[in-house]
Amino acid sequence: MKRSILGRWLITLWLPATAFAIPAPSTQEFILDNGLKLIVHEDHRSAVVHTHLWYRVGSNNEPPGQSGISHAVEHMVFNGSSKLCSGEGDHILQTLGGSDNATTRNDTTLYFQTLAPHALGVSFEILADRMSTAHLSAAQWLGEREVIKNERSESVDNSHVQRGLEMTLRIASPSSAAGNPTIGWKHDLDRLNVEELQHWYRRWYAPNNAILVVTGGIETEHVKALAERYFGGIARREVPVNKIALEVAAPGERKITQYFAHQPAMLHMLFNVPSMSTQTDPRTAPSLELLRELLAGGRSALLNAQLVHNEALLIAVTAEYNAISRSDELFSITSFPDLEKAKSTDAATQRIWAVIDSLKNAPPALEDLERARTQLIAQQVFKRDELEDHARYLGELEIADLSWRTQQARLDVMKSITPEDIQRTAQRFLVRDRLTTSAVLPLERAHE
Ligand SMILES: [Zn+2]
Repeated sequence: MKRSILGRWLITLWLPATAFAIPAPSTQEFILDNGLKLIVHEDHRSAVVHTHLWYRVGSNNEPPGQSGISHAVEHMVFNGSSKLCSGEGDHILQTLGGSDNATTRNDTTLYFQTLAPHALGVSFEILADRMSTAHLSAAQWLGEREVIKNERSESVDNSHVQRGLEMTLRIASPSSAAGNPTIGWKHDLDRLNVEELQHWYRRWYAPNNAILVVTGGIETEHVKALAERYFGGIARREVPVNKIALEVAAPGERKITQYFAHQPAMLHMLFNVPSMSTQTDPRTAPSLELLRELLAGGRSALLNAQLVHNEALLIAVTAEYNAISRSDELFSITSFPDLEKAKSTDAATQRIWAVIDSLKNAPPALEDLERARTQLIAQQVFKRDELEDHARYLGELEIADLSWRTQQARLDVMKSITPEDIQRTAQRFLVRDRLTTSAVLPLERAHE
């Protein structure tokens, strides 16, 4: 989870490309001798630079009893290294008008900064120092563990949405660590010790296990020289084999019901599906992305139009699917049923199934598919223009073992998906053997 943003955001200045002779944006990749991969996207329409340092380690790598260790190490590297006192890196970047943050996910730990191009060397010096010399002291861990437990209380235990989702995700991913919370189970946080953190840091924080993505108004050769200067001296180390989190494809239908006091009803339907990296047919992941849009990608999407606006059985509905992942994924439909009208979450589930079945029985109208496709492609093109989003996108592709060079190929497949592809994908993946249904109900209904 993220640390608080300490720096203020710099204002991104956009200049029309025609105003001056601004060179066209370009992306280049370099591998340093120690194995650090450097990807530089040079775009001089921006007056700032974004540095994203991605490590190939996250909660999917964590063994039983050590859930949350990647996130714990993420916190601890801010607490001092050979050149920096605790919190000093944040302070330096803040003084320079920049920002400094980090986040941990299933397959990665990401450190990201935004600052003026002339200060890029400072960013690299801080990130390189944290990569190689973090103190990870026992005294700091005692305090940081409480910070993390407070973060867990605020973001999970006191949020009925996240609390309801936590156990649901565990059941939805029965055969891998992907079902564990990134922040860790509370009982695991209580018994994590600093020696385990130090071991985790030494195992995974190697330059040959990291990708440095830089986007913004910078000269590629200058970035390369700075990377050599600050990261080049860190020795390559052997890192463990990083196994992909795979799931049993169709483990059977699972159900969970949780009761929380004074909370509105919530319904999750999660299907075990592949990602772009684990799919066997290249048309599967783009079809699932389009299915997500067709079902709940806006006011006119099928679930919204039918169950929110026409029948008013649902107060709101969303669908999520992350295609860019190195692991198997979940296709999820989350809704807030109006229990007065729907009577029960089972009845609401049946109506959602009816809408899904309509896509299995007949392909969607070409017009609806084109609208969903236009939305998705527009989102991807927009991401290229927002350079912080673009840095994130390039890094996500790399972490998913897809390479930043696959962007155009991805768009090309998306453009070729037919209504029949959508129908086939719904028939194959949106089925009960892949489904986990989770109902969160007001405690008042526990004995009904
Ligand atoms: Zn955190």
